[in-house]
Amino acid sequence: MSDSVFRNYIAGEWVEGNNGSVANISPADTSDVIGHYAQADRAQTEEAIAAAQKGQEQWQKSGLEQRYSVLMSIGDELIARKDELGEILAREEGKTRAEGIGETYRSGQFFHYYAAEVLRQMGETADSVRPGIEIETRREPVGVVGIITPWNFPTATGAWKIAPALAFGNAIVWKPANQVPASAWALTEIISRQNLPAGTMNLVMGPGAEVGDVLINSRGINALTFTGSLETGRKVAAATAVNLVKCQLEMGSKNALIVLDDADLENAVECAVGGAYGGTGQKCTASSRLIVTEGIHDQFVDAMVERMQKLVVGHPLKEGVHIGAVADARQMEQNLKYLELAKKEGGNLVCGGEVLNEDVEGYYMRPALFTETTNQMTINREEAFAPIACVIKVKDYDEALATLNDTNFGLTGGICTQSLKYASDFKRNAKTGCVMVNLPTAGTDYHVPFGGRKDSSFGPREQGTYAKEFYTVVKTAYVSA
Ligand code: NAD
Repeated sequence: MSDSVFRNYIAGEWVEGNNGSVANISPADTSDVIGHYAQADRAQTEEAIAAAQKGQEQWQKSGLEQRYSVLMSIGDELIARKDELGEILAREEGKTRAEGIGETYRSGQFFHYYAAEVLRQMGETADSVRPGIEIETRREPVGVVGIITPWNFPTATGAWKIAPALAFGNAIVWKPANQVPASAWALTEIISRQNLPAGTMNLVMGPGAEVGDVLINSRGINALTFTGSLETGRKVAAATAVNLVKCQLEMGSKNALIVLDDADLENAVECAVGGAYGGTGQKCTASSRLIVTEGIHDQFVDAMVERMQKLVVGHPLKEGVHIGAVADARQMEQNLKYLELAKKEGGNLVCGGEVLNEDVEGYYMRPALFTETTNQMTINREEAFAPIACVIKVKDYDEALATLNDTNFGLTGGICTQSLKYASDFKRNAKTGCVMVNLPTAGTDYHVPFGGRKDSSFGPREQGTYAKEFYTVVKTAYVSA
């Protein structure tokens, strides 16, 4: 294997893949090969797990200042190199340069936030019900954490899992999505230069059915955190349950934005366009359903079409581009399948949906808007992960809320209204993990919990202080003086 292959990182060493390597090809320009990335096999994944067990024993003994410095330093470097790394991310995933830079910057912020959390690890004390005995509760590292991430946020999903894992004294075996190894490799390379015991951080690149399968079925892992599709999430939950391994899943959704008659029209359109089409619609938080009340429906649709005509679709690194490329050929095929399905089900395509031919070979599609859809249509039930949004016309707020909740998913939900009454009712009664008022359904902060309900999430929340539920175990000590 040539030196130009980016290797796996196991037990503090960069190692070639037992399964050779794969080319990482940009979906924005298929002549752009970002690099060749090593492919681990089952045995190498087992080695990484064994290395993590050793690394973890050392890392949990590290002092808080060491942990704080490591996390700060990773965050500093991500932020300092945001332009360079954001560009690599844009090339390999297809999102725009601005989105790639923003994601890299945000990833740095996760490390800074958890650096501070290192110093906030407090326990509790209690008097025993038996005289003369005192009780302390404290949190300890959960141990070895298996991390499996998707292709749509290759740096951020890694960062929001790795940062708390390290902060609370755990070791890591990370399997990123095989379509986007460059961002994962770059983050691991930064981590590899930190003051960490060998084996604390391991990167095993390779297919889910092989490398991922070893991780989810391993008894050597103490906790498994997964972000990806519902279909894979179910497999992860089933496999980890057999071994009684702690498990956390963040999966897909079918998020809706409600637009009421009294909404600020301009803001509602900005929320809908940003939420539905940002990241080429490839966001778990995307608003693929736009639930609009009768009084504003026609005006809203006209304003959407006008706004969408101004969206520039093109190569992610080109100046002035708002919507980048679709992530790969398979995703493009899926987008077109859902586009046809929406038409067949009776949806009226009022804007977009065309496949675009750029001056380079890549996967480009204009964002699409359908009207005259119902919440029962498959296009409004299944996650397409595409730049496709469907308008569902409803009578009033009550019907809008019932429609929003009528789904098996529940990650985010939004409402555009100037009414305090409806905004307050919505905050309480939307059955989603995050609710947004006069804001897009996509776009969350790094210091507060993130997650959903129903088929969107399973297990403890991610991010903010809530992350400690997953990354630690509680110990109760009884002391008789
Ligand atoms: P995916 O389920 O196909 O893959 C996710 C990861 O699982 C990849 O690393 C993949 O290699 C691995 N994997 C696949 N099969 C496996 C198996 N049998 N065992 C173990 N691992 C396996 O998902 P994707 O297409 O990469 O990502 C898109 C999905 O992710 C969408 O549904 C999206 O909504 C979801 N997502 C959710 C969030 C969230 O926080 N809720 C964030 C981003 C993406």
